[in-house]
Amino acid sequence: MSTEKTVGFIGLGIMGAPMVRNLAKAGFQVVAWNRTRSKAEALQGDGITLADSPKSVGEACPVVITMVSDTPDLVAVTEGPDGVSEGLSAGSILIDMSTVAPGATRELAERLGKRGISMLDAPVSGGSTGAQQATLAIMVGGKEEAFQRCLPIFQAMGKTITHMGPSGMGQTTKLVNQILVVGTLSTVAEALTFAAAHGADLLRTIEAVAGGAAGSWQLQNLGSRMVEGDFAPGFMVRLQRKDLRLITEAAHEKNVPLPISSVAKQFYAAAEAAGYGEEGTQAIVKVFQRLAGVQVSR
Ligand code: NAP
Repeated sequence: MSTEKTVGFIGLGIMGAPMVRNLAKAGFQVVAWNRTRSKAEALQGDGITLADSPKSVGEACPVVITMVSDTPDLVAVTEGPDGVSEGLSAGSILIDMSTVAPGATRELAERLGKRGISMLDAPVSGGSTGAQQATLAIMVGGKEEAFQRCLPIFQAMGKTITHMGPSGMGQTTKLVNQILVVGTLSTVAEALTFAAAHGADLLRTIEAVAGGAAGSWQLQNLGSRMVEGDFAPGFMVRLQRKDLRLITEAAHEKNVPLPISSVAKQFYAAAEAAGYGEEGTQAIVKVFQRLAGVQVSR
């Protein structure tokens, strides 16, 4: 157990809620806040108390985690009115576990650093299942000393915890992860559409190939949901589009061509245009089945 037995948590969505439960299960006292209070109330209980604002979370806790949607949301809960940074004092640590822009992360870390507050960027991979089972992959940027201090906190939520270097490198690594994810999931949808067109038993097809060289987390976890027509999120299409935007912006900075991600991006755009923005990313298969004129989902 860390010396930091009290941990603040801001953002109790699909990911944040189970992460908070796992922190409490590991023995941390969690002080939580969510913009939509009703979601927070559902979590109240054993080891979890609620605060009235991000600022009061900061006042109560030496370490505060944020898990919100996008860069402007992180800035709003951190530096907006009643933001967490107003409550934090010198020596405290802000851990941002959302997926946001690496550049904005470095700038925020610098501003907080001037007040003696450390910041770690610690985005995650592993989906809502990883959040529930405390098996997330956590990629961390920031100072080694702050990383070591927070390691027991990370260990309560994840399995593969990697310190990637200075501020922003956690987010850069997460974008690498997302380049891999968007390409792989598009290929899963394409392959299942091909299999459907040829009349293959789709669940059996997944079973047949998943253990071989073509196996992947995306195929294993989302392929069967595509076939079963289970489009509940998981990871929403609109958040994947946000990550594609972050990838594109970061690639632009270094003149990196993104031929695969650029094609994949069109499927997520088409899925959102068709009204699937709040569904899980597996919903892109509906775009593929329309293009091919075949039925993949039951
Ligand atoms: P979500 O269910 O939509 O939750 C988003 C959370 O952020 C909610 O608690 C929301 O509050 C809060 N929020 C958003 N904008 C805010 C603002 N301006 N001010 C205050 N609170 C705000 O999304 P999620 O799936 O948990 O994702 C959270 C982060 O994790 C995202 O950056 C996402 O890319 C990343 N991520 C998600 C997954 C996944 O599989 N879901 C996997 C890895 C990483 P309300 O409840 O009031 O809306």
